[in-house]
Formats: sequence, C-alpha cells, structure tokens
Amino acid sequence: MKKKITIIGSGFSALAASCYLAQSGHDVTVFEKNDSIGGRARQLNSDGFTFDMGPSWYWMPDVFDRFFADFGKKTTDYYELVKLSPAYRVYYGVDDFIAIADNLPEIEVTFEKIEKGSGKILHDFMMEAQSNYNIAIKDLVYRPGVSPLELVTVETAKKVGQFFSNISKDIRKKFKNEQLIQILEFPVLFLGAKPSDTPSFYSFMNYADFGLGTWHPKTGMFDVVRAMENLARELGVKFQVKASIDKIIVENKKAMAVVVNGKRIDSDIVLSGADYHHTETLLDLEHRAYSEKYWESRVFAPSSLLFYVGFDKKVENISHHALFFDVDFQQHAKDIYDEPRWPKEPLFYANFPSLTDKSAAPEGMESGFFLVPLAPGITDTEALREEYFDKIITRFETLTQQSVRNNIIFKRSFCKNDFVTEYNSYKGNAYGMANTLFQTAFLRPKLKSKKVENLFFTGQLTVPGPGVPPALISGKLVSDLINKQS
Ligand SMILES: Cc1cc2nc3c(=O)[nH]c(=O)nc-3n(C[C@H](O)[C@H](O)[C@H](O)COP(=O)(O)OP(=O)(O)OC[C@H]3O[C@@H](n4cnc5c(N)ncnc54)[C@H](O)[C@@H]3O)c2cc1C
Repeated sequence: MKKKITIIGSGFSALAASCYLAQSGHDVTVFEKNDSIGGRARQLNSDGFTFDMGPSWYWMPDVFDRFFADFGKKTTDYYELVKLSPAYRVYYGVDDFIAIADNLPEIEVTFEKIEKGSGKILHDFMMEAQSNYNIAIKDLVYRPGVSPLELVTVETAKKVGQFFSNISKDIRKKFKNEQLIQILEFPVLFLGAKPSDTPSFYSFMNYADFGLGTWHPKTGMFDVVRAMENLARELGVKFQVKASIDKIIVENKKAMAVVVNGKRIDSDIVLSGADYHHTETLLDLEHRAYSEKYWESRVFAPSSLLFYVGFDKKVENISHHALFFDVDFQQHAKDIYDEPRWPKEPLFYANFPSLTDKSAAPEGMESGFFLVPLAPGITDTEALREEYFDKIITRFETLTQQSVRNNIIFKRSFCKNDFVTEYNSYKGNAYGMANTLFQTAFLRPKLKSKKVENLFFTGQLTVPGPGVPPALISGKLVSDLINKQS
C-alpha cells in the first residue's frame, strides 16, 4: 500500500532508502537541515577550489554497482570512475614513502623488497581476505541485524575463530616490518575502531584495499551524491533543504508526524538517516529506546580535524591520497580511544583531488584536504585547530621537501564542534559507531524502533556500520523492513 514517508536527512543512507522506497511506489519526501544535500559527503566550492567535505576513498565498487543495478542502471549512466595508480602513498620520513600499486602482484613485489618472504605471505593473506570479503557481502552485510541467527551460515561457521581474534594480532603474527604492519592495519580504521579491537574476519577490508582498488569518481565523491539525487528525483522523491526536523510526534506509540521548521507534516512512516542518538532526542523521553548511559558506553568512530586548503601553485612529490605515518601509530590510537586528548604527534591523511580532476582547482593551482583523526567529544577551539594546522603543514613541508605555507590562498577548517552543529553528530563523531565485535550486526542499534511503531532508522550508527558502501546497504535494508510491514 502506498505510504507517505518522511525521511530525515540526506546522507548516503537516506538517499539510498529514498530511491528504494520510491521504487516501491511510496510518496517520499527528504528533509535536510542544511542548505545542500549529501550529509557528511557535501561539497565545498570556494574561490575556484572544489573539495569533497567528507569521504574521498571510493572503495568496494561492487556495492555501488549493485545499488544502481537494483534500479536497472549502471554507475556509468551517472558518473565516470578512474582507478587511481598508485592507489596511495604512505610516508614514513623525509623522501621515504611506500607507493601502493593498483594491483596485487605489484604490491606483493613491494612487500617482498621491504621484508624477505612477505610477498608470498601477503598473497596467502589476501586469498583469505578475499574469501572473507565474499562471505561478508553474500552472508553478512546485507542482513538487517534483527537476530544473531543471521550470522550463522555454513561459511561463517568455518571462520568462527576469526571473530574472536583481532586483526592486529593476526597481521603481527605474519609480518615483522612495522611499516608493512601499519599499511595492513590501515583499512580497518574505516570501521572506526583500533585494529586491536577489530575481529580478524574484517581482513575483508584489506581485500577492498589491495584486491578491488581505490577509485575516484571523475569530479569527486560528490558525483555519487548527485547521481543518487538524480535517480531519486527520476523515481519521484521530493527534497526540501534548510528543513530541520525539530520533533517526531508520537500518538498511541505510533509515529504520526514530524515538525519541520515549526510546521507539522503528517506521515505514515518516519525514517531517520540523521545520527541515531540525535533522532532519539526528537522523541519524548518515554519513547527513546536507548538511554544516554547506553550511548556513553559505546565505542564511537573518531571525530576529525579537517582543513580544506587552496594553494596558488602545484604541490610536488605527492599522490592523490597520502598517509603520513611518520610518527607513533600506537600512541595516536591511544590518544583517540584510551586516554582521549589532542595527540602530541598526530598522524594525518591528505588528498589532492586536483591531481586527478583538473576542475578541482584553478589552472596551475592545487586543492588539498588534510585530516587528523581525534577522539570524539574532545575540546575544540580555534587556537587548537591552528596549532595543529601548523604542526601538520610543517611536517608536510619537511616530508615532501617543499615550501607551501606561503602559497595558501584559501583555507577552511572543520572540527568536532562543526560535526555537532552541522550534522547533529553525537560527540562530533565523524563516521558513526565503530564496528567492534560487540557492536556488529544484531548488536548495533536497530533499524526499526523498539518503542515506536512506524519509526525507522538508517545510517552509520545502525547496520551495517560506517562508510559510504555500508550507508547504501543500510538504505536498502531499512527499505526492505518498511516494505515488509507495509
Ligand atoms: C571526514 C570524513 C571522511 C570520510 N571518509 C570516508 C571515505 O573515504 N570512504 C568512505 O566510504 N566513507 C568515509 N567516511 C564515512 C562516510 O562519509 C559516512 O559513513 C557516510 O557518508 C554516512 O552517511 P549517513 O547517511 O549515515 O549520514 P550523514 O551523511 O551524516 O547524513 C545525515 C544527514 O542528516 C542531516 N540531519 C541531522 N539532523 C537533522 C534534522 N534534525 N533534520 C533534518 N536533517 C538532519 C544531516 O545534516 C546530514 O545531512 C568519511 C566521513 C567523514 C566525516
């Protein structure tokens, strides 16, 4: 039966859900508090520079293909993809970096050169990672997290030991060189927890990295937002921006309406793609399924200090994606998860989209994005932001052996306080609730409210978890649940 569905927020999960629900014949409207859609994947355009404000790594292309195929479309109907080669560089010192090729045989050669025997070990590790990836996609991530039984399949039963060991231990058993270990631990950081708190089974992220490769939509990740918005509009979805939902009205334990900028909008179903914790604050206390104590006890993915920077010249000795791991990896992880504080020596990540996409910066110039992961909930002041910009730009100049500081003609920062005010993010988390063993699948906050009928959730605080591909999957899972009940 056709339902009037209100969707809160316009991030990837909400966009995906809007497409599936409109395809099923429902009357769908998306309400976004900000003035443009895309959530954490919005785009910043200023002074001739273009930046993706959040995600920049297009991994797991099969998940995007599957999403568009569900609508009889192909990604290429909407955007063009470039496979990055090298995929990325990892810096360890002055002019000392490892470039990760765009194919496994070459990466094996790189490993072998650094640690004798590690090429073959990597090959075998990747075979296992590929098998885990296939199981994760086939048997696990497309499950709604309703029951623990969803996780029990013939294939997962064979891997049960990998859920109770952690990926850091596993990698350290196989590899001795600290640089190679860090490269192999890096992909699970996308899941939001420390490698030592992430089950070994999640080596499927290593397959996503070395096996499937790093892609780039021609003019940035925002191409995917545009594509999904276009598809949604083709399917009849309506969008309202600058439309903040202030309250979800519940009568007789049923979600009946939302209040948008002070106006009541009646709805048969309310689906929130905004942060789960925030959405529950739109309900009266008695209708919230999770207490503040519950949220406080969860492991959240880091917040981030971000800088969007325009340089008036081309930057040298860089690649599209670059990781700066020249300081103590373990100490920075401790500063995020164990004793939250601003790291003394921050690891950081940078990308330069204008290397791949000339339109991202005026001719002869460069656009750069810098990210330092930080503990969620940390104190955020203008002075701290500047102190850390100075630290990372100094290191950047030293490691890549050039001077860029005096060539900055555009700079904007974004940090914990902005995550809270712009996205209503719990503790200013950048990418949701971490996927630790005890926060996986049926152990995550539910897609369907446990207390209010006709109220549903999607996005990075529910199943399957953080990241753009999981957001697309989350939108599909919640739409299936809604359709089942309708
Ligand atoms: C800096 C950064 C880098 C990242 N890098 C990567 C990457 O390289 N690759 C990758 O795969 N993933 C990456 N991620 C993670 C990925 O971007 C997210 O997991 C994903 O985009 C989350 O989508 P979502 O739909 O759950 O939520 P969001 O994108 O947060 O969408 C929620 C929306 O709800 C809106 N909203 C909130 N409250 C209200 C309200 N009351 N009324 C109306 N609207 C409201 C918000 O404004 C927002 O638009 C990154 C994230 C960040 C922040």
